[in-house]
Amino acid sequence: MTEKRTELSDLGEFGLIDRIATNTKLENESTVVGIGDDAAVINHSDKQTLVSTDLLLEGIHFDLSYMPLAHLGYKLVAVNVSDIAAMNGIASQITVSIGISNRFSLEAVDELYKGIHAACENYKIDLVGGDTSSSSSGLVLSVTAVGYCEKGKVASRSGAKKDDIICVTGDLGGAYLGLQVLEREKQVFLTNPEMQPQLDKYDYIVQRQLKPEARMDIVHELREMGVIPSSMIDVSDGLGSELLHIAKSSKIGIQIYEDKLPIDKQTYDTGYELGIDATTAATNGGEDYELLFTISQDDYEKLKNHSDIHFIGYVKESKDGCKMVTKQENLVDITAQGWNHIN
Ligand code: ADP
Ligand code: MG
Repeated sequence: MTEKRTELSDLGEFGLIDRIATNTKLENESTVVGIGDDAAVINHSDKQTLVSTDLLLEGIHFDLSYMPLAHLGYKLVAVNVSDIAAMNGIASQITVSIGISNRFSLEAVDELYKGIHAACENYKIDLVGGDTSSSSSGLVLSVTAVGYCEKGKVASRSGAKKDDIICVTGDLGGAYLGLQVLEREKQVFLTNPEMQPQLDKYDYIVQRQLKPEARMDIVHELREMGVIPSSMIDVSDGLGSELLHIAKSSKIGIQIYEDKLPIDKQTYDTGYELGIDATTAATNGGEDYELLFTISQDDYEKLKNHSDIHFIGYVKESKDGCKMVTKQENLVDITAQGWNHIN
């Protein structure tokens, strides 16, 4: 946080909203009315509209002791864009609502919005509204993302068919191990504030935790390659949990192969150092925000040379259950140990 501190009470709610509005540029033709009226107006003409919302509470979903506010703003937008991407849609607008206490200065709010605006620019979406309130304790954030998809191209969780190929983008487990490293450094810092965090060798996985990217790039590429996934979900709670969602919604079974799971070397090395199995981090860790989807065998040729799409298994019949073939060729059940915020 910068040294200058301007109290939010000096601006008041409307002053703050004006400031947010002034710093917001609109880019999408579909945004007819943005911030400043009683409701935003969005025109998606003949396309279907997708809406997704998230509520994030300080101390439950994020920890400001290692999460810089600009990163939090970016992540907030990215995870909502990821939900739209997971429907094979293109995000076009967001609203952001904030509940904030006098613990935060105007400079802190500016940092948060710096991240929000950077993500909006990156994903080409417009901030078109929100709500602002004081909060008696922690920071409360809520984001609603709006997107669109041509009729017939929506990829839900329920469309996977027997013999489809299971695909996942990027790599898995990094965000979870990045969080473990950050938690460890926080403990070190609490014990001895003189100690500076040693994060260089964990840069990739820490980045995966602090600055995840929504895979909008993949949604655009799938369109270009003429592939509509038969089902899709984003990996927010962990691969195992997401696979079970698809299996349940599609009424199918699943078989994946441990040796096909995409895991970065830094994830492996850090897992080894912390005594956490990399496969466990990849299957049960969360927050990677990669896309998990199924395609029909006919589409394999179109995707097979894509460097960032990995083929990890097949869709089976419901009676086959959800299994992973381990490196030792044992069959183990896939389990869901997603993030559980309700303790
Ligand atoms: P209302 O009383 O109708 O809720 P507000 O004064 O709360 O109106 O909001 C005025 C305008 O500013 C609306 O367009 C609203 O969407 C927008 N707005 C309010 N808070 C935020 C925010 N935190 N971020 C972006 N837009 C906001
Ligand atoms: Mg309001």
